[in-house]
Amino acid sequence: MIGIAVLGSTGSIGVSTLDVVQRHPQRFRVLALSAHRNHERMAEQCRAVRPRYAVMVDATAAEQLRAALADMPEPPEVLAGAEALEQIATLPEVDYVMAAIVGAAGLLSTLAAAKAGKRLLLANKEALVVAGAILMRAAQASGAELLPIDSEHNAIFQCLPPQRPEGLTHAGVERILLTASGGPFRTTPPEDLARVTPDQACAHPNWSMGRKISVDSATMMNKGLEIIEACWLFDTPPERIQVVVHPQSVIHSMVQYNDGSVLAQLGNPDMRTPIAHALAWPERIISGVEPLDIFAVARLDFEPPAPERFPCLRLAYRAAREGGTAPVVLNAANEVAVAAFLEQRIGFTAIGRIVEMAMDRLPAVPVDAQGPHQGLDQVLGVDQQARAVAEQAILEVGATAA
Ligand code: NAD
Ligand code: MG
Repeated sequence: MIGIAVLGSTGSIGVSTLDVVQRHPQRFRVLALSAHRNHERMAEQCRAVRPRYAVMVDATAAEQLRAALADMPEPPEVLAGAEALEQIATLPEVDYVMAAIVGAAGLLSTLAAAKAGKRLLLANKEALVVAGAILMRAAQASGAELLPIDSEHNAIFQCLPPQRPEGLTHAGVERILLTASGGPFRTTPPEDLARVTPDQACAHPNWSMGRKISVDSATMMNKGLEIIEACWLFDTPPERIQVVVHPQSVIHSMVQYNDGSVLAQLGNPDMRTPIAHALAWPERIISGVEPLDIFAVARLDFEPPAPERFPCLRLAYRAAREGGTAPVVLNAANEVAVAAFLEQRIGFTAIGRIVEMAMDRLPAVPVDAQGPHQGLDQVLGVDQQARAVAEQAILEVGATAA
């Protein structure tokens, strides 16, 4: 029996993970769940999968969860606070950790799982973006298996040879073709983008996801973060990664080889496929996803991304090239700007402007791997600094708009 901890269980990926796991009760046992403050959904999940531990980061929500589960015969131990995330990610009886917290808030628990040598099912792409070197080193040192959940990276993983000790080039790989749907505004006239609402931005044509990643898909910052994610996961420079807009989201990404072959992974846009793949790898298990009806799909379209429409993509390439602390600033400023957009404090097109202002004001410096905690303290410091700079930029952008 494989013991699993699901970090971020009440979110979109967390719910899909429990859906897959519950189809295989002989194979998996959920030992721990975590959420920020959604105690109602957490209470339902606790009754359904009966974990030993349930973490609520918010202390009041933890109290409410305890009260809601008081009548359970063997209720889970309810823990409160962000430190408890690291505790459940490193339990000796936990074999696999699903890292599905959104944003840099997931970094420390993801890193703890990597250090503890767990199989790490990585949905929390922001952790790799801000601390790629630290996380990859930790996984290598402990022997943790890192399996990508992001559909594109999971597709690339499936299209690459299983072992490539001498790197991608030696394995004959010329390019990674990273597919993108183009989001809800792929064909919206650029002059209309300033007035789009949070609900319009979150209405993704193909995927149902949390609100932060949905806005990232609309700006294409999501694809930008995924470029950086791919650089770390597959040890490849950003020049080798080409973004391909593919509106149907049926091909989840491709790998181009030097003999002319292009390998692709196809499927319905449903995250239960990459989740099941990573849970069972190298085997295959049922995920609950409908089989792909290739005749209903009928056609597959491809186009290059429009740079003037998606400035965030340019900024992400810039951060990937600059390296060091640049991706930390990119990510932190983006998290702050997206939250401000969702709260209707700024317009949609201000997101990219704020990220660029933060990157200009906090130029990239190398991450000092010899520093405290191998650079982690530096990364966390720059993350905080960039959040403050982005908040300041929001005030300035707001002032010019008024
Ligand atoms: P979501 O917003 O639906 O869920 C986020 C989860 O994290 C929730 O359980 C929430 O309680 C928890 N959380 C939020 N803030 C927290 C904090 N400060 N501390 C601790 N926990 C916190 O998000 P999602 O769409 O499931 O995305 C999760 C991650 O997976 C993101 O990094 C996203 O980029 C990645 N991802 C998601 C999808 C998708 O289809 N949803 C696809 C690819 C990658
Ligand atoms: Mg993705």
